[in-house]
Amino acid sequence: MVSRRHVKIIATLGPSSSTPEGIRALIDAGADLFRINMSHADHETLRRLVGMIRNAEAAIARPIGILADLQGPKLRCGRFAGGKADLAVGARFRLDLDPAPGDATRVGLPHPEIFKALEPGSCLLLNDGKIRLRVTEAAEDHAATVVEVGGVLSDRKGVNVPDVVLPLSALSEKDRSDLSAALDAGVDWIALSFVQRPDDVAEARKAVGGQAGIMAKIEKPAALTHLDEIITLSDALMVARGDLGVELPIEQVPGWQKRITRACRRAGRPVVVATQMLESMIEAPVPTRAEVSDVSTAVFEGADAVMLSAESASGRYPVEAVTMMDRIGRTVETDPNYRAILDAQRTEPEATTPDAIMHAARLVTETLRIPAIVCYTNSGSTALRAARERPDAAILALTPRVETARRLRLAWGVTCVTTEDARDFDDMIERACRIAFKSGVARAGQRIVVTAGVPLGTPGATNLLRIAFVGGRSGSDSG
Ligand code: PGA
Ligand code: MN
Repeated sequence: MVSRRHVKIIATLGPSSSTPEGIRALIDAGADLFRINMSHADHETLRRLVGMIRNAEAAIARPIGILADLQGPKLRCGRFAGGKADLAVGARFRLDLDPAPGDATRVGLPHPEIFKALEPGSCLLLNDGKIRLRVTEAAEDHAATVVEVGGVLSDRKGVNVPDVVLPLSALSEKDRSDLSAALDAGVDWIALSFVQRPDDVAEARKAVGGQAGIMAKIEKPAALTHLDEIITLSDALMVARGDLGVELPIEQVPGWQKRITRACRRAGRPVVVATQMLESMIEAPVPTRAEVSDVSTAVFEGADAVMLSAESASGRYPVEAVTMMDRIGRTVETDPNYRAILDAQRTEPEATTPDAIMHAARLVTETLRIPAIVCYTNSGSTALRAARERPDAAILALTPRVETARRLRLAWGVTCVTTEDARDFDDMIERACRIAFKSGVARAGQRIVVTAGVPLGTPGATNLLRIAFVGGRSGSDSG
């Protein structure tokens, strides 16, 4: 019942996978969480998908995480007469607020705030970075540009402005409406796109009001300059390599991926590596060597999760893609170099009781070759401190809250089981042993490390570590 894989898999849902059978097949292949992309899903679709996932969750009796990914301040150009235009290198091209269809000399950019932020010399990237424009003149209602890299531009393509902090809130009106629909539907995580400043996260936190975890997507260079503050304010991060690779010179993305992953590990925040991980599997049943190597790198670095986008949402081989990620994860995690690479990035515990306990718990499991740490957790924060240690021992989190169990599905190595609050100390140890045995993390006669807080049920009060023997069929002999 406990997954042998530490790294978690997020599968984006879309036309290729949005049926009860499709979702079930992805779960069986190894998906731990599902992502619903609010750029594409309307509220009816959102509710339908959440319903299907919760049905599947009930059928397998294991918590599944759901991530609603808000579109954020994504800029798009307007439409063209005939659907597209060919932009020639060296030509002048104008962006303006005119809703009339565009041509090879101009197109609408229906974002008035952007014109105020542009300056002569600013660079605009269109269509996933394929087309580059340089601003020569910027006014209130238009910008004159020169085409530096040309090509065909079609309706509603994305526009990136890498070297400008856009005067836009992280939550557009659409985002606010999508957010409230997502919270009503009961999703576990909210992803914020195009976070630029720490305040963007703080603002979203107010709107979310603790009803879901907040995942900041790092895809703007501006976010990199405030990375530590953004990590502190967020519950998780995503290395959103798609837009990040447009806004940054693409060769800088792998270095940033490592830096972001390490910073998140130090802070004990889950980190997701996303985009183009198995891109060729959109069309083919097997990935390229380079893609397998890319997923492996994320696993070796100790990322909490790897994510599939179009591979599972609109590709031809969604189940094969999840299966491939599962195989890569398991294989890397048994590689002779895995432990050493993972341990090399481990940092000292912070000077807090939960960190001290979790650090000690890991050392005890190593000294005594104990197979599992069983931690009682209410909000999930104690389990995340256990995951921060990246122990070899299994982490079994016990919580009375199903919301916590679902959210923790994202965390490296954590298996979470819901159980009611223990009656007393003996019940707590006995229950931990029984669930450890049932879930297969410890056999009869083995010991486990149990962590909890007394007085029982006080949130955030992890303050004890107990070594207990797992007894026969069910019970325990605490010792
Ligand atoms: P997106 O975010 O798929 O919503 O664009 C991920 C990324 O940019 O990598
Ligand atoms: Mn993006």
